[in-house]
Amino acid sequence: MTHPQPDPIDHRERDHRDGPEQPQDGPLDAGPFSAWLAGVRGALAGDHGSDVPCGTCTACCTSSQFVHIEPDEHDALAHIPRALRFPAPGLPRGHVLLGYDEHGHCPLLVDGACSIYEHRPRTCRTYDCRVFPASGVAVDERDKVRIARQVRRWRFSHPAELDRVEHDAAHAAAAWFQTHANASPAVLPGGPPPTSTGRAILAVAALDAFVDRTGPAPRVVPEPDPHEIRVTLSRRRGRRSPPP
Ligand code: SF4
Repeated sequence: MTHPQPDPIDHRERDHRDGPEQPQDGPLDAGPFSAWLAGVRGALAGDHGSDVPCGTCTACCTSSQFVHIEPDEHDALAHIPRALRFPAPGLPRGHVLLGYDEHGHCPLLVDGACSIYEHRPRTCRTYDCRVFPASGVAVDERDKVRIARQVRRWRFSHPAELDRVEHDAAHAAAAWFQTHANASPAVLPGGPPPTSTGRAILAVAALDAFVDRTGPAPRVVPEPDPHEIRVTLSRRRGRRSPPP
């Protein structure tokens, strides 16, 4: 969610685009896959915010999404009225969620722009809808028509063989988690993520376990040893909390 401050005309136009696909909904360049992967990993690890060319898109702020805010996010919490947040179910005390209004819009989206942009939560800073085309996980379309539409537009490029291998590995990881939904708690301590966003992030986080880099050229491993998956995820969990 790194959109600039769009003007009110842009927002009105988007509101009318919930209907059929428009000619302007053409392909968008998502960049070379491996470069994107390095960037999104840094964002998920908390090293920096995501760098999504959102343009004037506010789909993720208008798609009935709960925004998770962690206890250490003092700046964001100071700028979000207490009445708009509530305890996050199943998470330790101090974790809260920011809800949405009757239209599915974040209440802090005002005139098509985030009213606390400089202070927005980490969830908003790291959200990158390219995790869906990266992993092949389908957007849960209930209430998320706008995100699904934006996701269909992204196109990754594969200038080197590694771009293609890593992209295929992300798809293999998503397929593995779908097939092994009851994977042992050692691999998935909290069980499978309940949201499509969580499942897409999980596939990207586990991707390294699905690439064999020991030979002369990297190759996809569709059925790695679950131990490898567990180690890969533990390494990433050690840097940040698991996806919702
Ligand atoms: S806090 Fe700002 S960036 Fe986050 S969902 Fe709300 S309007 Fe969007």
